[in-house]
This record gives sequence, C-alpha cells and structure tokens, in this order.
Amino acid sequence: MGPSDGMRRKTGSSSPQSRLMSDHSPDTICSNRISNHVLRAFLFAMLYVSGAELGHLLSFPGYFATYWPPAGIFLAALLRTPNRQWPAVILLALICNLVSDVGLHNCTATLSVGFWSVNTAEALTGAWLLRRLLPVNFDCDSLREVLAVLLVSGVLNTMVGATLGALLITQSFAGETYSSVWHMWWISDLLGVVVFAPAALTLTAPSRRWNSEYAGNRGPEALLALACLVTTSQLIYGPGQHPLAFLVFPILMWIALRFDIRMICVANVGRSIVGIWNTEQGTGPFATTGTIADQILHLQVFLSLTSGSFLVLAVVVLERYRAARVLQESEARYRDLLENIDDLVYSVNNEGMILYTNRAWRETLGYSQDELNSLNILKVIHPGDHVKYRQKLHRLMQGENLSQIEMRFMTSAGDTLILEGNSNCRFVDGQPTATRSIFRDITDRREHESQLDSYRQRLEEANRQLKLLATTDALTGLQNRRAFQERLVEEVERAQRYGQPVSLLLLDVDHFKQFNDSFGHLVGDEVLKQVSRILEATARISDYVARFGGEEFAIILPSTDSCGALILAERFREAIASEPFPDRRITASLGVATLSRQSHGLSDIIDGLTLIKGADEALYFSKQNGRNQVHLAGELHHALA
Ligand code: GH3
Ligand code: MG
Ligand code: MG
Repeated sequence: MGPSDGMRRKTGSSSPQSRLMSDHSPDTICSNRISNHVLRAFLFAMLYVSGAELGHLLSFPGYFATYWPPAGIFLAALLRTPNRQWPAVILLALICNLVSDVGLHNCTATLSVGFWSVNTAEALTGAWLLRRLLPVNFDCDSLREVLAVLLVSGVLNTMVGATLGALLITQSFAGETYSSVWHMWWISDLLGVVVFAPAALTLTAPSRRWNSEYAGNRGPEALLALACLVTTSQLIYGPGQHPLAFLVFPILMWIALRFDIRMICVANVGRSIVGIWNTEQGTGPFATTGTIADQILHLQVFLSLTSGSFLVLAVVVLERYRAARVLQESEARYRDLLENIDDLVYSVNNEGMILYTNRAWRETLGYSQDELNSLNILKVIHPGDHVKYRQKLHRLMQGENLSQIEMRFMTSAGDTLILEGNSNCRFVDGQPTATRSIFRDITDRREHESQLDSYRQRLEEANRQLKLLATTDALTGLQNRRAFQERLVEEVERAQRYGQPVSLLLLDVDHFKQFNDSFGHLVGDEVLKQVSRILEATARISDYVARFGGEEFAIILPSTDSCGALILAERFREAIASEPFPDRRITASLGVATLSRQSHGLSDIIDGLTLIKGADEALYFSKQNGRNQVHLAGELHHALA
C-alpha cells in the first residue's frame, strides 16, 4: 500500500461555530460576534490539524491512515454551522489541509488540494443529508440524531469519500489498487466519523453542564470509570496477545448507563487511540492473526461497532431518563395541584378502600396518611348516609357522573361534616376500578342556611302577627277600619273591572250612648261583641264584615246590587233587633249604597269613599227617620231632592 505520510488531509470548520444560532440574538455586540467566530475558527483548525496528526500517528507503517478523526470533526463542524457559513468552514478546512499536508508532511500542494476536495465532498454530502433528514440543532443527544449520524454519515458519505479518494490515490500513486484503497479509506473515515463526530457534537453542545443530566455530580465516579477504562484498555492491548478485547464491555456498560452521553464519546476516543496505537506496536488481541491488513480491518470493525453500539446504548438510557423525568415532572405538577387545592379530593377502589386523598381531605377529616392505608370509606361516611352512599356508588359503577352529591362525613374526632361535590368512576377495560371524587366542606354554609331559615320563619310569623294586629279590631275580633278600607278599594276595583255591582252597608247601633250611660261601658262592650257575632253569623261567606269605629259597623257585599243589598241589610237589622240581649233590646240603623252599572252614569258613586259617603247619608236618613230601619243611598238622593 502507499505511504501514510502526507496522504490525507481534510478540512472542516468544526466545533466553535456550532452555537451560531444563539449568536444571532439582537443584543449581541458585533465585535463579540467576530471574536466568537475567530475563536471557533481557531478551535476548529486546532482540532482538525490535531486530528490529522493523530491520524498520521496511528497509521500503520506502509499503509494509508487507519483512523481519520478529521472526517468526524469536519462533519461535526458543518452540522454546527448554518448553511450560509459553510463556505467559510470549507475554506478553513483547505488551509488546515495545506498546513497539515504541505507544512507537516511534505505533500504537494496539488495533492493536498485533492485531499481537501475529497474530504469536502464527503463531509458536505453527510452534513447536507443529515440536515435534510433532521432539521434540528445537531447535539447528538437523541437516538434519532445518533442513528442518523451513524447510519447516514458513517455509511453513505464515507463511501462518497472512499470512491473519490481511491480515485485520487490510484491516479497519484503507482501500485495501489482501487479496491484496496477504497476499502482502507472508507473504513478509516467511518471509524473517524463514528468516534469523533458524536464526540465533537456532544462536547460542543450548548447549555449542558458536564455532569450528566441524570447522573448529578458523579465526578469522582466518572474519573474512576475513565481510569478503569484506560487501565483495562492497556491490559487488553498492551503486551501479550490474548483475545480479550471484550473485557472492556463491562466498563463501557458502566459508562453508558451511569454517565452523560459525552462520557461514552470520550471513552470511545480514548480507547480507540489506545487500541490502534498498541495494535500498531504489535500487541493486543488484534495483532495475533492474519496479515497486517486483516489486523487493521478487525480492529477498525471492532472499534466502530463497539463505539457505535455503546453510544446508542448511552443515548437510549438518556432518552429513557428524559421520558421518566418528563413523567415525574408532570406527576409532580398534578400532585402539587391536587395537594394544594382547598377542595377535598379522594379516590377509593371497588372495595371502598381509600387509594388517594389530598392534603385538604386529610386535614379536614383529621386522618394521617398512615391511617388511610387501611381505611374504608364507610368508616368516614356518616352511618346515616351509608344507604345513600351505596345507591350513589351503584350509579357511579353504571358509568354515571354524579354532581352536587351531598353527604355527611365523620372526622376522626367524631364530628360530622357536610360535604358536597362530584364523583365519577374510572373504568379499565370496561370494568369499574375506582371512584374519584372532589368535595367541598359546606357544613358552615348549611348551618348558616338553617339559621337563616329559622330566622325567616320567625320573621314571617311575626309579620303575620303584626298584620293580624294591624288589621283586626281588638274588641270584636272583626277586621278593623284600615283593613276594611283596603278591602273596599279592592272590591270597588274588581266590581268596576268585571262590570259587577258592589254594595256597602253601614250599621250604627241606636242610642248606644244612652246604653252605656245606663249599663256601663263594659256591658256596652259585650253588646258590641254580641252584635259582631250576629253580623258574622248573618253575613254570607263572600261578605266582608268590619268594625267601622265606635258602635258603627261596615259590611261589603260583593256582586250584590241594591235590591240584594237592601234584603241583606234588612236581614242584619232584623237579626239584631230580634236578638234577646240580656239588659235591653238593641236595634241598629243601616244605610246602603250600591255601585252598579247604572250608577256610573247616574250618580257620583264611583269609588270607595263616595260609596261610604252614600251609605253614611243613607244611614243618617235611617236615623232621622226613626232608627231601626234601612235606607238606600239612591232613596236618600230622591228623598233629599
Ligand atoms: P244614635 O242612635 O244617634 O247613634 O245615638 P248614639 O248614642 O248611639 O250615638 P252617639 O254618637 O251619640 O254615641 C255613640 C256612643 O257609642 C258613644 C260611646 O260611648 C259609645 N261607644 C263608642 N265606642 C264604644 C266602645 O268601644 N265601647 C262602648 N261600651 N261604647 C262605645
Ligand atoms: Mg254612631
Ligand atoms: Mg249610635
């Protein structure tokens, strides 16, 4: 094969440019941006040239590079850089290639430019494909990014590089066969990409602390793991030729499972260097059999596969951790919400055992979390509501959502609380598994309501009494004048509305002053009571009897015309006159007034007051005419006329 010296240089603007997206924030000062770019360009150049030197260092004598780190570094740089800045990265790669090839390895400038062209084609193909596939910021910290880099870049673009590179070398060096050069180029670039692209991308990923997202501060353990890895690698690849390459697996497993993905990237870089270096020295498990080419091939395949596999394992662990953390955070959010609301939330299983209660539930009902572990909900529900609870439970199990359930609960201290809330049932595979409820303590509200209710009842009773007092005559128990006047207004309105007659009788006990003078006021009072009873007994159900004042009474006769009123008046008069009063015969005079259809046009009796006035005049006429008689207002008019 051809000499390794001065053979391959590739360019790639690498890591520093990676965080360019964030540099575009409006408050970034221009000079800062420039110095950032310069710093990144410098870092890329350093990495690229160092990677190339490492590639040369690890090349087997007489062979082209066994391991080509710049392939991974160039690709990572393009993935970290916006497309519009790719020309700058590519130009920088040209300079690095010339420095490394021409400056350090006496290669011709033409050949160096050739290598640069091939390397650029390879890296561009990979970066373009990856960016098309996954339009994300490539940090290589998700499974799809890792798989994309390993598969797309590790296979496709390194084959592009191998195809062009083998052409370049077979054209430039005599004695090289296309297939062997193609194969050597491909596998060494593939190893370079698999190991260095993820390392460069993860190590330059922004806003991630070195400590693992999930590992916390495991610095000492990380150092121990790396020390074990280096020691074991040296044991495997050092003096001796035992086929024990797999001894490194437990340590890689340790690193993949316990630490951030960057640790496995660092481990891959380190152990690949140790492996290739020692194998080149003729020691270790890969230096045992076959030709040098076979040894190189076996080593490259082993390193590529294990690096890729443990990288995938590490990223799967990372994703699992992230998923678990998202779940934890979400659970913590919901738990926080439930724990800190004032409503009482709980859940019980089919047997009524309490599965969950929130803080408000426990505090209100006075149970500790430990006590709840073996508590049945029936112990908490008031015995008087057990039947109600079972009925509700039955409906819940039928799939009904119940709202505004009111139930009495017992606190651990034995107090009764009234709770109101909603419940529904959780079904799994169509089977009811648990009921969940949210309740609110309405004990105080209910107490206030019942207090208010009793106040209201008392107030209504007092009002009734007050009204009775205000409308009842204390002596006779009849309606008083105020009630009478209100009623008269209503009856007159009703009569006018329906075009019906209404009559009013005014009744005055004859010579009552004399009676009082003769028998005393108390006896007079008894007479007035007796007269009241007679009037009530004589009146029809629809008639309205009231004490008008003193020894005067008023009787409203709804739907009664003057004829009917006269007949009734006569009946009242007769009833009194014929009553055997103990001390002396009592008589009364009556005046009648009627509001009838005809009276609208004929007289001025159109409201209660004129009705009273008419009846009063008729009464006066009865008095004038000799007492113990009845007269109608109309007659009065005629008489007066
Ligand atoms: P007349 O036939 O003209 O109506 O004569 P009278 O004496 O009944 O009429 P007058 O208006 O002169 O007297 C009414 C009397 O009624 C005077 C009063 O002592 C009596 N009186 C009024 N209210 C009451 C009462 O509540 N109890 C008693 N015992 N007497 C009453
Ligand atoms: Mg009188
Ligand atoms: Mg009188």
